[in-house]
Amino acid sequence: MEPFRISLMLRSVYDTLPSPSNLHQWGLIEEPSCKLCGERGTMAHILSGCKVALTQGRHRWRHDKVLKHLAEILDIERRKKRPSTTEAKQIRFVREGDTGHATKSQQHFILDKGSEWNMRADIGKKLVFPECVHTTLRPDIVVWSQSSKMIVAIELTVPWEERCEEAYKRKKEKYTELMTTCRERGWKAWLFPVEVGCRGFPAQSLWRMLQAMGIVGKPRKTAVRQLGEAAERSSCWLWHSRDDLSWKPSADE
Ligand SMILES: [Zn+2]
Repeated sequence: MEPFRISLMLRSVYDTLPSPSNLHQWGLIEEPSCKLCGERGTMAHILSGCKVALTQGRHRWRHDKVLKHLAEILDIERRKKRPSTTEAKQIRFVREGDTGHATKSQQHFILDKGSEWNMRADIGKKLVFPECVHTTLRPDIVVWSQSSKMIVAIELTVPWEERCEEAYKRKKEKYTELMTTCRERGWKAWLFPVEVGCRGFPAQSLWRMLQAMGIVGKPRKTAVRQLGEAAERSSCWLWHSRDDLSWKPSADE
C-alpha cells in the first residue's frame, strides 16, 4: 500500500485526521462544520454520514467501486466448470487422504449444487431481477441457475465500520420477503448481506459469503484484502475531496 493510504487508515482509526471537528478541538478553526452541509464535520460524518455527500452520489460511487470488484470475483467463480451431479457423486469414492474435488463437493458449496449459472450486478442501478419473481427490488448481485432453479442474492453495504451489524440486519430484512417468494415458486434461494467497512475493514459476513460460494483458502484471503483496499482507496478519494463542492461521480475516471 502507498504510505499515505496506510497513514490515512491508521489516523482515521485513531481519529487524528484534520477533520473540521478535530481542527476545531485543536483550536485551529472557528467552526467545526462540514463544508458541504454545515453539520459537525467528524471523520464519520464526512466518510459516511453527510446527507449532501449522499445526495451527490459520493457514497454510491464508493459502493459501486467495491461492487464492481466483487462482481468480477464472483463472475470468475460462476463461470468455472463444475462436475455434473453424477460426477460429483463418483468423485466422493476416492482414496483416503486424497483431497481436491472430493473435499470440495463434500463441503456443499452453493455453486457446486447447480450448473449453467448466470449473473447480474446492479452497477449503474440497472439490475432487473431474474424472471422467477416479479419485483422492483434490486439486490446488488444476483447469481442464478434457471435449469437448477437456484438463486443467490448478494447485497453489499460500505458503512462506517461500527455500523456493519446494523447494515446487515437492515438488508436482511429488506430482502427476506423476496427470498420467501422465490422459495414458494420452487426455487432454492440464498441471501447474503455483506459489508465492507468504509475504512477498509471487511465484516465476517463477507468471508462467509465467499466461502459459501466456493471461494476458499488463499483466493478468499486475497479477495477480502482487495475488497477492503477498494473501499479504503475510494474513502481516501472522498476524504481528499471533502471540500470540493462541485464533486462529480466521474471525478477520477
Ligand atoms: Zn456534511
